[in-house]
Amino acid sequence: MSILVTGAAGYIGSHAVQRLLAEGRRVVGVDNMSRGNAGAVDVLASLGQGRFAFHRADTTDARAMLDLFERESVSAVLHFAALSLVGESVQRPLDYHRNNSLVPLLSAVGDAGVPRLVFSSTCAVYGQPPTTPVDETAPFAPVSPYGVSKLHGEQVLGDFLQAQGDARAPFACAALRYFNVAGCDRTGRLGEDHQPHSHVIPIVLEVALGKREGVTIFGQDYPTDDGTCVRDYIHVEDLVDAHLRVLDALQDGEGRVYNLGIGRGYSVKEVIDSCRRVTGHDIPAQSGPRRAGDPPALFANPAKVQRELGWQASVTDLDEIVESAWKWMQANPEGYPK
Ligand code: UDP
Repeated sequence: MSILVTGAAGYIGSHAVQRLLAEGRRVVGVDNMSRGNAGAVDVLASLGQGRFAFHRADTTDARAMLDLFERESVSAVLHFAALSLVGESVQRPLDYHRNNSLVPLLSAVGDAGVPRLVFSSTCAVYGQPPTTPVDETAPFAPVSPYGVSKLHGEQVLGDFLQAQGDARAPFACAALRYFNVAGCDRTGRLGEDHQPHSHVIPIVLEVALGKREGVTIFGQDYPTDDGTCVRDYIHVEDLVDAHLRVLDALQDGEGRVYNLGIGRGYSVKEVIDSCRRVTGHDIPAQSGPRRAGDPPALFANPAKVQRELGWQASVTDLDEIVESAWKWMQANPEGYPK
């Protein structure tokens, strides 16, 4: 039996494939390559030793997904593929709603009788929560089309689960709400290669690489200790580890939801200081205006996943996260070979 990983050529998906292969599992990777990296697929193929098959396909193409499910023997889907840039989603909402829809994928899952699915959701479903840390009972209030598209995905998944249960199908699923995923595989084989970079840690590290003059801090007048926004940065390998725990725990008929974060926040200034320590570069920083839609502080209460699955982040030190990202960026300053 294989695990089918969508978005396998992307940042988180590629790390998930690597981990599954390391565990001796068979993996079918799927990516439409709109954002994925062929270089990551090459790395995974070299690690796969015949246990990794890659297909260029789109998860919004139900027919293509059903073909794959019928050809490969799939026991579970880890669904990472998505458009995931908040700002872009405001400019191109229809692309986000179309691309991030779970309807085609779930119709293929239902037709093929695939029994498990783990869905990448996001803390963006909470928008700007009234209190932090944020647990799974926080009200839904997404403020971007991206967040709305992911919340919609969760709701469609909930309805699908109900119908599968009514039909006595042995389906189970989970929605995992990620906080800020960061860092790279510590063997240095896989990295984060978004062109252009969209997240704060790689952006700051690009200054140390000499690819940017400096970094702009988006707002220094927030009601936080140092005035800059606070986020919960979870190492990508810890995030992947949580997926495996969840997958192994799911029982027929269950639908689970977990927030995935380390449970503490770091400010933008702390991120920049960490990057300075790790790289030895002075990284000039300038003050800029607030970025629309940024909540002042957002970090997880990961008590539920710890209580139910015994999972907690193994890396909570920001320097360790930054070091792993820096290692890959130094070795691959232009990203994956194109
Ligand atoms: N940020 C910043 N300068 C940048 C990029 C990001 O000050 O060049 C801030 C951003 O406003 C947010 C934090 O860094 O408060 C994390 O942003 P990122 O885009 O990495 O993740 P988000 O929290 O938006 O998902």
